Amino acid sequence: MTYADRRPCAANDGSTCEFVSLGSFDDKSGLVGEVSVAQCRRCGFGISLPPLRDVGFLYADRESQDFQPDTRGLAYAIKNWFFRRQAAALIRQLGKQPASVLDFGCGSGQFTRCLGDLIGAERVTGSDFHDHPPEELRGRNYLPAANREDHSGAFEAVIAMHVLEHDDDSAALLEQIVSMVPRGGTVVIEVPNIQCVWARILGRHWDAWYLPYHRTHFSRRALRKMMTRAGLTILTEQGACVPTMGRSFANMFGAQNNLFFLLAGAALHPVQWLGEKLTGEASAIRIIAQRG
Ligand SMILES: [Zn+2]
Repeated sequence: MTYADRRPCAANDGSTCEFVSLGSFDDKSGLVGEVSVAQCRRCGFGISLPPLRDVGFLYADRESQDFQPDTRGLAYAIKNWFFRRQAAALIRQLGKQPASVLDFGCGSGQFTRCLGDLIGAERVTGSDFHDHPPEELRGRNYLPAANREDHSGAFEAVIAMHVLEHDDDSAALLEQIVSMVPRGGTVVIEVPNIQCVWARILGRHWDAWYLPYHRTHFSRRALRKMMTRAGLTILTEQGACVPTMGRSFANMFGAQNNLFFLLAGAALHPVQWLGEKLTGEASAIRIIAQRG
């Protein structure tokens, strides 16, 4: 059928993934129609169907929630608080402040800006599909995807937060991400964790499925394997509790995500955090690695 059939399995070197269908999901874009997920019964890696070789059309108008403008009011303030905390935690985990960081797939740029506010705007560059920077990165460093090749190996660290899952061929996307740092450079990858307790409890309503925008779905084992195959040495692996409750409940009620669900999600965040601590399966996996 597709290259997915020949995907090397993380569970067993030399074998390919053995996919079983998890059934149909909601098409959050309204552009694709029937969408579903298939998961490997051995390594836990998941793929979205039908295959989309070029996903550019999904982001053409920056309307997906990855690019939400949302630049005012309480919703913005809550997200800003969360992104600042996440950025501070990331810097602690890195153990030092890199002289130059590329935020590969920066989306709205809100996280990129928070990171720049903490370690110095001149050290942080956002990068995404679009030729022009998002509103958040006005006056900040920005590298359009089309110009990335000219800057390969030019950054001390590259971060790709919730990026890898946005392409059918995440292994090829990972190669591009890795190419932005020289040998010895730092690579930070964060993706949703398909084995998270909320994926089981909330089923297809769990917001991190997010079809058709999310093209691949990772277990910890599948991500580790993909990264070592890309020539990376894994330094640390940790869980990250990414607020997904508000949007998950909006999905469950078939409602638009709005301030009400954002506040509900914030109120439920301690419950989410506790569930993830108790099960040892966080909503997201973050791996810090070094290019070999
Ligand atoms: Zn597999």
